[in-house]
Amino acid sequence: SGAGESRSSQPKRLTVLSGPSGVGKSTVVKELRRRYPEVWLSVSATTRRPRPGETDGVEYHFVDDAEFDRLVAGNELLEWAEFAGNRYGTPRAPVVRRLDAGKPVLLEIELQGARQVRANMPEACLVFLAPPSWEELVRRLTGRGTESPEVVQRRLDTARVELAAEKEFDTTLVNTSVREVCDELLGLIVAPSL
Ligand code: 5GP
Repeated sequence: SGAGESRSSQPKRLTVLSGPSGVGKSTVVKELRRRYPEVWLSVSATTRRPRPGETDGVEYHFVDDAEFDRLVAGNELLEWAEFAGNRYGTPRAPVVRRLDAGKPVLLEIELQGARQVRANMPEACLVFLAPPSWEELVRRLTGRGTESPEVVQRRLDTARVELAAEKEFDTTLVNTSVREVCDELLGLIVAPSL
């Protein structure tokens, strides 16, 4: 051990941030990006249309159905899931490259994807982002204002089921303050506990 230890013997550091839709995962990740730009975050592929202010290659790689089919068929996604009528997936190659170099990787994905990571990469640290309360989660899901009532209802139904998944996770962060959650998450990414 010590100076003679080879880099490849270092533990791989894959942190997965998941939780119900509307709990504030993307807000936490945005704050993390702003304050700690050195943290590398996987950019997912999605068939969802960009929202105003989103840029291709930054929040997501926005692809059409045929391209997503191609990524799936080519086994190019580490995990993928259908969520609220669209498909989302994590490009495998950039993640594997980072992990092989001993560098930390952060994924921000929904629950089905987190379960796939758990099954395929048991060494990953699964972090559940929980809302301060159910009422607060409903407020956030209905207050976003960018989705149709049907989409909001679908997300509420999904969120109710997703809240029960907390027990499958290694650790829970309650999203009372974006700033605090962000710092706690950084601690997990940089110095994962055993
Ligand atoms: P949104 O459409 O609001 O950006 O994202 C919807 C959901 O998809 C969020 O819960 C987000 O975490 C999840 N998501 C984003 N990228 C991925 C991915 O690559 N894989 C999976 N499984 N979920 C993702």
